[in-house]
Parts: sequence; C-alpha cells; structure tokens
Amino acid sequence: MRILVTGAAGFLGSHLTDRLLAEGHSVVGVDNLSTGSLANLAHLQNEPRFQLEEHDICAPFDFGRVEYVYNFASPASPVNYHRLGLETLEVGSSGTRNALEVARRHGAGFLHASTSECYGDPLVHPQSEDYWGNVNPVGPRSVYDEAKRFSEALVTGYHRYHALNTHLVRIFNTYGPRLGRDDGRVISNFVVQALRGEPLTVYGDGQQTRSFCYVSDEIDGIVRLAASSEHTPVNIGNPVEWTILECAETVQRVTGSSSPIVFEPLPVDDPMQRKPDISKARELLGWEPGIALEQGLLLSLDYFRATLLAGQPTTLVGQTATAGAS
Ligand code: UDP
Repeated sequence: MRILVTGAAGFLGSHLTDRLLAEGHSVVGVDNLSTGSLANLAHLQNEPRFQLEEHDICAPFDFGRVEYVYNFASPASPVNYHRLGLETLEVGSSGTRNALEVARRHGAGFLHASTSECYGDPLVHPQSEDYWGNVNPVGPRSVYDEAKRFSEALVTGYHRYHALNTHLVRIFNTYGPRLGRDDGRVISNFVVQALRGEPLTVYGDGQQTRSFCYVSDEIDGIVRLAASSEHTPVNIGNPVEWTILECAETVQRVTGSSSPIVFEPLPVDDPMQRKPDISKARELLGWEPGIALEQGLLLSLDYFRATLLAGQPTTLVGQTATAGAS
C-alpha cells in the first residue's frame, strides 16, 4: 500500500513509519516540524519507499493517491501544547478535517491518534472506552483535550455520514527512543535528569498515577486496529499502573543514578489517575503489551545517552512544566 502518515517526524509517527516500511509499504510522511524532528527520520534518507513532505496539514493538501491515512500530527506533550495552544486546536480541527478529506478523495482507510486525555481527570478507574470523561473545557489542558475530542467527533462523522473506514485509537502514556528529550514528559525528564546526575523533579506528592506503554507495543496495537473493522474508540496502553514517585524510583534504579528526588508544584488540572482498561483491544485485536517498564527503560537508555552526547539544546524542561507555566 501507499500510506500517508501525518506527523511522521514525531515520536510515534516516525516509529509507525518504520513499522509500515518494514511491512513492505510505501510511506508519504507529512510534517511541519513544529514539534517533530528530522533526526527521527534521518535513517530513511536513502529509503526509496519513503517520501517526506514538509507541510502544515491545517492547509489543504494532496500528495497523490494513498490507500491508508494515519493522522498523527499534533503537539502532544503538555509543554508543547501549552506553548502551541492555538496551533493544537487548529490541527485537531482543520488539520484532521484536511486529512479526512484526503482519505475520502482516495477511498482510503483512516486511523486517528486520539488520547487518554479524552477521559480528562477520570472519575472512573480504570478507564474503559464507554466512559465519557471529566474534562475541563477551559483549563490549560483544554487546547489538547478538546481538540482531540473534537477530532473524535469529526472522524466519527466521516464514518457515519460518508461511510469512511475510520479507526480511533486512544493512546495512553507511551515512551521509548525518540521521545523528545526536551518536551517535558515525565519519562524523558526523569531519564535525562538521572543521566546528568541532576535531581528528579516529581510534581506534587508523586501519588498521581500513569500507565506507561513501550513504543513498539503501542505501534503494534495501532497497526492491528488499523486492519480491524472496529470504528469506535479503542484504548491501546499498558494497564500496569505506577505512581509518579514509583516511576522516579524505577528510573533511579535502572540508570544506577544517585540523583535525589525533589518535589515541585503540581501543574493545574494534572490528572490524578490513569490506567487503561484494555479488554476491548484484547478481545478485538488479540493485543496486549509485552514490555515491562524496567525493560522498556533499559531499551531507551542508549537513545537518551546519545542525545545528551550530541549536544542538543540542554534546557531542563522540568523547570518549565511546573504549575506556573500551566
Ligand atoms: N511529571 C513529574 N515530573 C516531571 C514531568 C512530569 O512529576 O518532570 C508528572 C506530571 O505532573 C504528570 C505525570 O508526571 O502527573 C505525567 O506527565 P507527562 O507530562 O509525561 O504526561 P501527562 O500524562 O500528564 O499528559
């Protein structure tokens, strides 16, 4: 197949691109490089089945016939979507619509990267797909949460009114090589801090929870969903739940770092708990994750060491992601 991947230079987009190429497909990657990085695609420079178009999907586009569209373009980390708030709203509305129009024009299948943020600060635990969520529509996270929720409505509308073959994946916290070193996410912050021998910045009391999925597990679930006939949202995430404090201690152990843990203010509207119910993915796709957090962290260390040695910008984003910035 000739497949379009929007957000191909991002963390998930680039891993998805690798997976599709490995399966023998051709990939047209589209990215405006606002948060993605060409470094994530550098290894594909001489790959004839890969083409990169530098384009903002908020403007209409068409790069020729495609049989499938994966829509992964969006700022995704809290630091980035706070910085690019209006752009995040725009890409989740006009951008998603333009990508849907490409799929409609070519009769292509469509998978949209949605998020556990659709559940907001969830009052139901663990979160199953039939939970409608607890989202603050005007809080600092709303630019991301509501853009993704609008995208889900739009994608569902194209399925309902245009009979487009659509899929919605709700992605939970994912980590691995190519996670933006400076994008403020908890795993990248902790690993980089530990490798530098700097304090690990735990926000709040560290009792809030997240469930971390290694990137290859996540991509595998996504590709399976794309091939399925399921049109309603499906959670793809690792259901093993960690407090953020436990996560910091695990990073200390895996890196062998003697960095201390320090506590900083909790960002506004930071969800208190998050854990996917993956029964639907298990039943429909025969999918479940196989890589535990310690193992996944070990698989990621070389990448983070290399990015530190490469002398990229060294601002510690932990300092920009605290309550005041949100
Ligand atoms: N967090 C933290 N220290 C950091 C970065 C994040 O304690 O240096 C916390 C953050 O407050 C949240 C969790 O880790 O409770 C996950 O944050 P992340 O930004 O990775 O993603 P989120 O799941 O909030 O979108």
